[in-house]
Amino acid sequence: MTDRTRSANPFNRLAVVNQKGGVGKTTTAVNVAAALAQRGRRVLLIDMDPQGNASSGLGHPTRTVGSSIYNVLIGEAALRDVLLPCPVDGLFLAPATQDLVAAEIELVDEPDRASRLRAAIDVLLTDMPFDDVLVDCPPSLGLLTVNALVAADEVLVPLQCEYYALEGLTHLMATIERVRAGLHPTLGVKGLVLTMFDARNNLAHQVAAEVRKHFFVFDAVIPRNVRLSEAPSHGKPVTLYDPSSKGAVAYQLLASELSAEKKS
Ligand code: ADP
Ligand code: MG
Repeated sequence: MTDRTRSANPFNRLAVVNQKGGVGKTTTAVNVAAALAQRGRRVLLIDMDPQGNASSGLGHPTRTVGSSIYNVLIGEAALRDVLLPCPVDGLFLAPATQDLVAAEIELVDEPDRASRLRAAIDVLLTDMPFDDVLVDCPPSLGLLTVNALVAADEVLVPLQCEYYALEGLTHLMATIERVRAGLHPTLGVKGLVLTMFDARNNLAHQVAAEVRKHFFVFDAVIPRNVRLSEAPSHGKPVTLYDPSSKGAVAYQLLASELSAEKKS
């Protein structure tokens, strides 16, 4: 049994973002969310990618989803009404389906189009407390990602240590600066998490060292681990599918870093 009392630990409101596809955003969002919930926290994971990979990875493939985050963004449903339970106690999912592609177009003339998600989360939190809210972003810097950035207090950036990683990071930081300048001056960078890390690859170590010069990088480094890629097809986070695998242990460590009191 987990302890359901609300913890005094810090509240995380994070956008898991990187405009590159296939860098481990969804894997990080799903498994960190699950690991935080397994630590007894109440966690909300919002799927903002029309591909719905976070949803299917938690047992809710798009074909089985009724109301989704699309209905919330266009004002048809409250966030509370689309939440689905997950295989981990204390973890709730706001699912996504392919419909979400249309939201970008349908919202284009709405003056509050960039703050729809933030407003929906604020309403939800007034009567449903969560310790952590994570938003899994699509691989672009369009309106869906901007909504996630405006909705978050901080960003969590999964980074694959390859040659072009730093270049991609420069574009992402420029977008974050634009969001700060226009919509959300206090948006912070929580940190970077190194994903699919191959310790035998010299370039990976060089990129990691370079990134550490400029950004806070979590101690938890996520290794390349086949269990992480298998778990979604079972509709489970790796922390349930194979809790002792290297991937699960790494995400549990990341969750402990995210739920720890900040040292002053
Ligand atoms: P993104 O959301 O950034 O597009 P994903 O999290 O979906 O990236 O990961 C892309 C692919 O790589 C998926 O098939 C996923 O299962 C796999 N994957 C992610 N992280 C790892 C890892 N650490 N080890 C092995 N496979 C991984
Ligand atoms: Mg993804």
